[in-house]
Amino acid sequence: MRVYIIGAGPGDPGLMTVRGAELIARCPVVLYTGSLVPREAIARVRPDARVLDSSGMTLDEITSVLVAARDADQDVARVHTGDPTIFGSTAEQMRRMAELGIPHEIVPGVSSFTAAAAAIGKELTLPELSQTVILTRAEGRTPVPSSEKLSSLAEHRATLCLFLSITLLRDVVNDLTPAYGEDCPVVVVHKASCPDQRIVHGTLSDIRERVRASGIKSQAMVLVGRVLTSTDFADSKLYDPTFSHGYRRGVRVKAEGGSV
Ligand code: SAH
Repeated sequence: MRVYIIGAGPGDPGLMTVRGAELIARCPVVLYTGSLVPREAIARVRPDARVLDSSGMTLDEITSVLVAARDADQDVARVHTGDPTIFGSTAEQMRRMAELGIPHEIVPGVSSFTAAAAAIGKELTLPELSQTVILTRAEGRTPVPSSEKLSSLAEHRATLCLFLSITLLRDVVNDLTPAYGEDCPVVVVHKASCPDQRIVHGTLSDIRERVRASGIKSQAMVLVGRVLTSTDFADSKLYDPTFSHGYRRGVRVKAEGGSV
């Protein structure tokens, strides 16, 4: 018996891994986070599978489902949205499983931050502009450690992906504007990869107003950084003809422009 903690991806069932889909199709118990995992992601379960939505359950209730499955020697597909290792509340479940001796493993998924970047057709790291992506959240009812306040992370001016923060845009804008500047691009992607996906473009100075007008209040990724609109970034070294690496020898370029 084993519990598979599966990332269902951001919404489009086509963005689940083959391994995740195969496990969901064969496990006799399927426990999914109904608040975010779409029904299509669990459409191909066994006809006799016990399919349970964990969105109304407590950690104790989830644990008792897992214990019952262990006692019946039944594998469990524990299906989470996006990737299970990012804001998944999976660690506390794995800790319980470790204490109870329940074997488990993680099957990664496509996180909503990469799905959001894909939706807007942008690379989050650009040469010389940003080589760092920070995945974080604004502080709301859930506190963040004092060393990770948005205002201090902002000092890096790295590309930011904000989870769980769409209702906290006022704080986001206040914390980021001093370091990023009020013309810094911000893109909000609601339900990335889903048929009802919506995208709102703006800057730190107007994104709050634009999001308010759009009515988006949940399931949104907030992307911040100069990479979102830059077009004059440097080319990478990877495809630079003069740059050597393990797969290609660079050529020396003569002053007048010809190669030697
Ligand atoms: N483990 C998930 C994140 C779960 S926390 C992942 O890797 O994506 C829930 C937050 O994720 C939401 O508040 C929202 O910020 C983001 N999110 C989840 N699905 C999304 C989607 N399809 N589009 C945009 N944001 C999404």
